[in-house]
Amino acid sequence: MARDEFKVTPWEVSGKVDYDRLRELFGTSDLDPPLLERLERILGEPLPPLLSRGIYYSHRDLGWILDEYEKGNPFFLYTGRGPSGDVHLAHLIPFELSAYLQRRLGVEMWVQVTDDEKFLFRSDLSLAETRRLGEENLLDLLAPGFDPRKTHILFDTVSIRHLYPLALEVARRITFSTAKAVFGFTNQNNIGSIFFTAIQSVPCFLPSQIAHRPIPCLIPCGIDQDPHFRLTRDIAESMGYPKPALLHNRFLAGLGGEGKMSSSANRKDDAIYLNDPPGEVERKIGKAFTGGRATVEEQRRLGANPEICSVWNLWRSRFAPDEGEFQEITRTCRSGELLCGDCKARIIPRIQSFLAEHRERREKVRAWLPSAIVGADEDPATRP
Ligand code: SF4
Repeated sequence: MARDEFKVTPWEVSGKVDYDRLRELFGTSDLDPPLLERLERILGEPLPPLLSRGIYYSHRDLGWILDEYEKGNPFFLYTGRGPSGDVHLAHLIPFELSAYLQRRLGVEMWVQVTDDEKFLFRSDLSLAETRRLGEENLLDLLAPGFDPRKTHILFDTVSIRHLYPLALEVARRITFSTAKAVFGFTNQNNIGSIFFTAIQSVPCFLPSQIAHRPIPCLIPCGIDQDPHFRLTRDIAESMGYPKPALLHNRFLAGLGGEGKMSSSANRKDDAIYLNDPPGEVERKIGKAFTGGRATVEEQRRLGANPEICSVWNLWRSRFAPDEGEFQEITRTCRSGELLCGDCKARIIPRIQSFLAEHRERREKVRAWLPSAIVGADEDPATRP
């Protein structure tokens, strides 16, 4: 792959992603200042870092979602997780934004756990393992603070009888040739993986079907998930439902400095996991890729480059919520006043205390999680 080439699909991200070009390729819209100002007015307070610092940078139909909200027709949120391993900081981003939007606007939240997808796409994982991971992952992903009365989980292999009729309606409208064009399937793909996008579409429509009226749907997700929902949007109106709107985030950079924070087995040091003990955080940040110079003298003289630094990306996403502090870190990094060793020593305790607090919040989710899983009470044998 040439230096400026990259690949982004729901299952693979490689190369150095050019986000503006990706937005053009996918045909999505820029999350521009007028739209952000409108969102800020509706939220009634300054935007959180995920929105104000360009981490969410692209959308589909957000303006329409806000029009409907202001007309008294609130949206519901939908995001999900394919459980293939432990949860790391990057996985938390759409859930943190969703929890924030739910708190500010009081909207309903739907979460899909695609244990079936990971079983179909990962030949090294059994279904029992993807289900176990799904349950564990939910404790982490719901820890940012959701309202249990307004949060509903679609755990695919448990909730399937609620998903299947609508999945069939979707599947009948998508040809194999379209699925091939969008996802790049070949004759070697198993037939379950080809059907899977129909299952992932269902949460966009299920709340409308239950309410017997069209309810707008907003999906915060990584931009790599956009192809699924492009298909969903194409067939939504023929099913009598509104097209789901999307808010796309950039990927949190991996600590190795290469592309997206990854949980691949050979890149375990690339990510901070939510169950990393304090010593692991220190070790991983200690060896993280930075935008610093080869020597202290050079850095003092020339300054560093925050834009390419994995540590700066952590500051940007959540570890410097105070805007003044974030600006000061960025300025002193560029000027050479801040050295990478000091910067790392400053962020390590922030991450460690965030993870300690996260683990307390995670335990609180246990109490209400089973009752939020759609269909879990119908057949105890199918409970995860
Ligand atoms: Fe990154 Fe901090 Fe070094 Fe700047 S000073 S390049 S933000 S580690």
